[in-house]
Amino acid sequence: MKSQRIAVFISFVAGIVFVLVTAAPAAQFSLVSVEQEIEIGQQVDAQVRKEVPELRDAQVSEYVRSIGRRLVRQAPGPKYAYSFSVADYREMNAFALPGGPVWLHRGVLHAATNESQVAGVLAHEVAHIAQRHAADQLTKAMMANLGLGLLGAVLGNGGGASAAQMAAAFLTNGIFLKFSRDDEREADAVGLQLMRRAGWDGRGMVELFEILQREARRNPTSVEVFFSSHPSPQDRIARLQSDVGRGAGGTRDTPQFQAIKARLQKMSPPRAMPRN
Ligand SMILES: [Zn+2]
Repeated sequence: MKSQRIAVFISFVAGIVFVLVTAAPAAQFSLVSVEQEIEIGQQVDAQVRKEVPELRDAQVSEYVRSIGRRLVRQAPGPKYAYSFSVADYREMNAFALPGGPVWLHRGVLHAATNESQVAGVLAHEVAHIAQRHAADQLTKAMMANLGLGLLGAVLGNGGGASAAQMAAAFLTNGIFLKFSRDDEREADAVGLQLMRRAGWDGRGMVELFEILQREARRNPTSVEVFFSSHPSPQDRIARLQSDVGRGAGGTRDTPQFQAIKARLQKMSPPRAMPRN
């Protein structure tokens, strides 16, 4: 009897929270605090570092970080400690972890033909973080299918343990691969603003999507990961093109980018992502 009542109460509370989640705009309601988000991101990043080979080249790393820093200065939202790392993978992809870490696959640097294209990819990822999309996804996942155990951990005892639980849930559910279509659209739009304010030509973002489309026809496996985690470039190109049209301008390329490309060509080729 008692447990029944508790169960009813719990589902009542869950019901209220669910109503709050569905009624409020995603950005305004979150079960994950900024501090928890940063902690989750650090734990997930530590795990990623165990599995993903980082390209350890001081010049390439510093170049990518310098683009990242310029974008971050324009980013809205909490002051996250953003970091930028290059994965030594040939497939084109990039991803953002909660609260700061951004990873760029080396394949993007090989495929891009000018700097603004790389800035566009990084701007999209910075926008995911700045708009707290991971916190939104985690909140939704907790409400939808991770059960009340995790919800209790979040609402109850705060601090390290719950962040660890969320980090584990984040990894096992591949949440960072599953931003919603709306989140992707927002990351494109906000990312475009970021890159322009930071001084790059917004056309770079559209051009990178065009490169992805060409690659998809030429060598589908090289863009498979990207397409498993992102909507098709077709819609995105159409939508962005009208935004970009209203004011092209800004930096398209730099000698530094071409020097980095030449440097990468001289290194041993990037690895293929392990397939599972
Ligand atoms: Zn995205």
